[in-house]
Amino acid sequence: MSGTPEIVSGSGPVPRFALDHGPVSEVHAFWLAGMSCDGCSISILGAQQPTVEQLLTGSIPGLPKVVLHHPVLSVEVGREFMKAHHLAKAGKLGAPYVVIYEGSIADEAIAEEFGGYWSGMGKGEDDQPIPTAHWLRDLAPGAAAVIAVGTCATWGGIPAAAGNVTGSMSVMDLLGKDYLSTLGLPPINIPGCAPVGDNMTEVIAAVLMFLAGVGPLPKFDELGRPAWQFTETVHRLCPRGGSYEEGRFEQDHGGEGCLVELGCWGPVVQCNIVSRGAQGHAGGCMNTGGICIGCTMPGFPDAFAPFFKKPPGSLLSATASRTTGTFITYLRKFTQDSHNRTNRWHKTEKVPSGWANVEGSPTLAARAVDFFYKRLQQLGTEFKPGSARQKALQAPSHRYIRTRPTQEGSEPQPGEAYHTEAAE
Ligand code: SF4
Repeated sequence: MSGTPEIVSGSGPVPRFALDHGPVSEVHAFWLAGMSCDGCSISILGAQQPTVEQLLTGSIPGLPKVVLHHPVLSVEVGREFMKAHHLAKAGKLGAPYVVIYEGSIADEAIAEEFGGYWSGMGKGEDDQPIPTAHWLRDLAPGAAAVIAVGTCATWGGIPAAAGNVTGSMSVMDLLGKDYLSTLGLPPINIPGCAPVGDNMTEVIAAVLMFLAGVGPLPKFDELGRPAWQFTETVHRLCPRGGSYEEGRFEQDHGGEGCLVELGCWGPVVQCNIVSRGAQGHAGGCMNTGGICIGCTMPGFPDAFAPFFKKPPGSLLSATASRTTGTFITYLRKFTQDSHNRTNRWHKTEKVPSGWANVEGSPTLAARAVDFFYKRLQQLGTEFKPGSARQKALQAPSHRYIRTRPTQEGSEPQPGEAYHTEAAE
């Protein structure tokens, strides 16, 4: 920042931070936890691109350093820890800040009726705990961005499932449709239970870049999800997608085929965990044999329950894949066998493998399929292996290689044999 940051009054009673003309060198991050299992905190600690440490030390060029206020990770405790929260609420922090919310937001009005609270942090003037929902309400107007992490904060999640007594809701629900941060952003949503750590740090870094004026505003979808992370379905990125297409479906856990008949909802769920991996490009539901239960979706968990039943829609799609996929796989085997042979092995009809007996002489059916497949493959091109056109183009090279240079560096002498058995 250049000089002292200016604090001005916004549209509401809460002071808002106005960016001055200098580069932003430091941004505070208030991590608030509502009805949470702390899984999002654990997940973000494993992020690698970028790491939390890189954000905290400001070691990424152009990115402001993050001053994190986290109820579990911060070394300050008690009043010392809460001091920055109160300063930010009063508009006296003197630096821009973002709010990161983990966990769903229980309806504190219900708890108040019983003289209690659902989740709180710090104490008010009345010596009573301040609900984290109130912290969100009070800090959000002055925040550069409000980032909801995890499905509980983004959509309500498990605490908001049918039958809950807490009236749990999401950050969007609490702040309402008209909420905009000082950067003009509605709440940003990074769902997942837990979300991929890199998804969180990547978005935080992107928002910081925008805040610092060194990057564009990233693209978000209609529900405030980072578009590049949540546009594709799990199914499109799944390593088992080929099995689905070929009609190979597992009926029990432990196999390598598609898991849709075990209850996988991947074809309709927007999530990047299988391509990105849970941590460091490793793990992630289907990569490790688990089904997708739709944990990134607003309808989770009720819309995907019961988890042990297969999605009704799979009856149609899996039957179609089974019908066409089985036949296509059968045909592919011919091509695969043929392409597992070198030219020499095709010619000699022998495969000199010491590993196992490999049939070198193809069956009549395999020859027929191979013949028509090759014709189709080479249809419309004159550059097929061994064609007259190819021979004509290669002729000068063969002529050159048949001649021996008289001395190193000199031109080859026509007629001097170099390789007497050069193929033509
Ligand atoms: Fe699609 Fe799930 Fe099968 Fe993967 S395991 S291919 S996501 S249905």
